[in-house]
Amino acid sequence: MAYNFDTQRLRAGYEPSEHKYAVSPPIYATASYDFRDVENSRNLFNFSEAGYLYTRIGNPTVAVLEERVAALDGGSGAIALASGMAAITYAVFNVAEGGGRVLTSPYLYGGSSDPFRKIFPRFGIDFDFSQNISNPKLLEAEIKPDTKAIFVESISNPNTTLLDIDAIAAVAHKHGIPLIVDNTVATPYLYRPIEHGADIVVYSATKGLSGHGNIIAGLIVESGKFNWKSEKFPVFSEKYYTLRDKDGVARSYLDVFPTIPFTTKVRLDYLNYFGAALSPFDAYLAVIGIETLSERLSKQSANALKLAEYLEANKHVNFVRYPGLKNSPDYALYTRDYKNGAGGLLAFGFDGSDAQKEVFLNSIKLFHFHVNIGDARSLIVNSPQTTHGELNAEQQAEADIPANLIRISAGLEDIDDLIADLQQAFNKAFD
Ligand SMILES: *Cc1c(COP(=O)(O)O)cnc(C)c1O
Repeated sequence: MAYNFDTQRLRAGYEPSEHKYAVSPPIYATASYDFRDVENSRNLFNFSEAGYLYTRIGNPTVAVLEERVAALDGGSGAIALASGMAAITYAVFNVAEGGGRVLTSPYLYGGSSDPFRKIFPRFGIDFDFSQNISNPKLLEAEIKPDTKAIFVESISNPNTTLLDIDAIAAVAHKHGIPLIVDNTVATPYLYRPIEHGADIVVYSATKGLSGHGNIIAGLIVESGKFNWKSEKFPVFSEKYYTLRDKDGVARSYLDVFPTIPFTTKVRLDYLNYFGAALSPFDAYLAVIGIETLSERLSKQSANALKLAEYLEANKHVNFVRYPGLKNSPDYALYTRDYKNGAGGLLAFGFDGSDAQKEVFLNSIKLFHFHVNIGDARSLIVNSPQTTHGELNAEQQAEADIPANLIRISAGLEDIDDLIADLQQAFNKAFD
């Protein structure tokens, strides 16, 4: 019987008896693995035996992370990569290699929206920024014949917009294309996109998943449910010589890996040849971080809600974005889909001059002032001038990132200390 979530985050993907009974997963600091004999080398290369060859494409410590996150998300498989951006890039290449379009949301992490506009088109992959992502009934009209996927964030960074993922997934599936969800901010503790129809989930494990701001890592999870046999995605059915059987007969990804064709193709094509491999040391830190995922996200959600309520009542604040607030436009979606809290991310509008905002930010003592999120420590940043500074004014308006927006990622500190820190900074700014 499968364990429940809070047991899985401690046990999934790791069996001590297979590792000299080590309780904490060992760090396999090795680049390569001996073949037992020549037959074993043949078997590994024709996939008739499972095992490790070379750490760029697989490592036992990294595998614990992959299997654990796949279990937490209810996916059929996962692949860990060196960063969230590598996960997004490889997932996009994997659905749209050879060229095509991806329909996406205006509410995106700056590191995604910028290359979607500037870099991917140079590889023949064009992104359409939807006008109707919050109104999925109208979304269908934006899908073109060569649209290969829809890409959205479950809780958007920085303005915490929620989307009706179930309705968006239904539109994608009606058109035979997968829905990719960046679930970085929510983590599987708050939201499990596959249960809402997503086919591919991507993560920056740098953020809440690992939770201590000490590594850069990413993951791709697949549901195992999407129909990759479709003629829109011929590469999954094409015969590849690298997938040959023991008699040398070429096979397809779907022949050899029917339940995990997507992440295996990422592994054997993109990880193998583009090489954004996660270090086993960093995989270990991510695994240890996930052990406390539920407690961290619960406390961060509680702290974020109190900060949002404090800010809502502050006369120097002209808006607060947090889906857990009763008057948030996303409150109905929040209560429908998020049973464990709304997470640590929130944003507010600083109602003052640019000079006052500078005094405010320079006066903050307890919050760290930098670009990360999801850390055990609380963080604050002026996103439109930093993490989303690549967007021009029109793009910032479309992305709903007003120039006075300030983003907070609530950590695990005492809430009274956090509120007192904001209050003393407001006092200095409006002295
Ligand atoms: C940080 C982040 C990424 C990129 O992840 P890295 O690990 O920094 O490469 C992608 N998506 C979202 C929502 C993020 O917050």
